[in-house]
Amino acid sequence: MKLSRVVARAGKLSRPFRVTNGRRFRLTDVDPGDALDFGGKDKSRAVEELAQQVEALSQLQERLYAQDRWALLAVIQAMDAAGKDGAIKHVMSGVNPQGCQVFSFKVPNSEELDHDYLWRCVRCLPERGRIGIFNRSYYEEVLVVRVHPELLERQKLPAAVRGRNLFQERFEDIRHFEHHLARNGTAICKFFLHMSKEEQKKRFLARLEEPEKQWKFSAVDVRERRYWNQYMHAYEDAIRSTATAHAPWYVVPADHKWFTRLVVSSAIIDTLAGLDLRYPEPPPSAKRELQAAKEELMKRRT
Ligand code: AMP
Ligand code: MG
Repeated sequence: MKLSRVVARAGKLSRPFRVTNGRRFRLTDVDPGDALDFGGKDKSRAVEELAQQVEALSQLQERLYAQDRWALLAVIQAMDAAGKDGAIKHVMSGVNPQGCQVFSFKVPNSEELDHDYLWRCVRCLPERGRIGIFNRSYYEEVLVVRVHPELLERQKLPAAVRGRNLFQERFEDIRHFEHHLARNGTAICKFFLHMSKEEQKKRFLARLEEPEKQWKFSAVDVRERRYWNQYMHAYEDAIRSTATAHAPWYVVPADHKWFTRLVVSSAIIDTLAGLDLRYPEPPPSAKRELQAAKEELMKRRT
């Protein structure tokens, strides 16, 4: 399928879930079971479309790399078992590994805690020409840390900067940080894979039952379910406070993994297509050199 058609379709599939202005956003507006016109069952058609998108993404990424001006940062956030890893694996499956970097952010270590919370993420930002994926990110600082304020104790913040508005201040800093990146040529898209609590239960039970999935299971993850509502509130507030035109959130229905993947890849394609990526034109002098090199090669038999 032609790239332009895949790009047009990607816009249709991703924009319904894009939030560019958080003020009126409500998490309850997005149904985790939504699958647009796929109707919840039409998995094979979605898988076919994803294959076309993977091919398109590979073409766009080649241009991004060759042009070497823009970078793309994709931030992926979700509750456990919402399908972050699978989405990254499937969506990036056709992309040249040299042009893509994936970083996962876990509980910060002692070196990381000795710095401001953006530090470890700044070190991993994608360079020009690259796609960078953050599997979790600085957003954990307004999500898990907000739900478990005891985590703040480990952050060694001076009392004078630990005011009542700490999380509002973090939102402000994140907005400014992302604006700074955007103004310097990093396109940003942020994803919240929005899964229902019932679906998470099913997936945890599957992890317990299937031997190849057991390694993914952690008892701690089940305990976190007690805080589900607090997490949803924190996600909603984070999205409301940090969704902007230059760093939109995509709130992606995540009860159907095949649909989640299609929306994530659509959003990345839509973002890249908006950058007007093109292969650099060689300057006239380089054209003459290319012609001379060609003649040189043609002159000899071997
Ligand atoms: P996973 O992505 O399932 O391997 O788990 C990583 C864990 O690290 C999750 O439970 C996150 O909530 C946690 N985590 C990531 N970033 C932070 C952070 N800044 N502070 C505390 N916990 C974090
Ligand atoms: Mg986990």
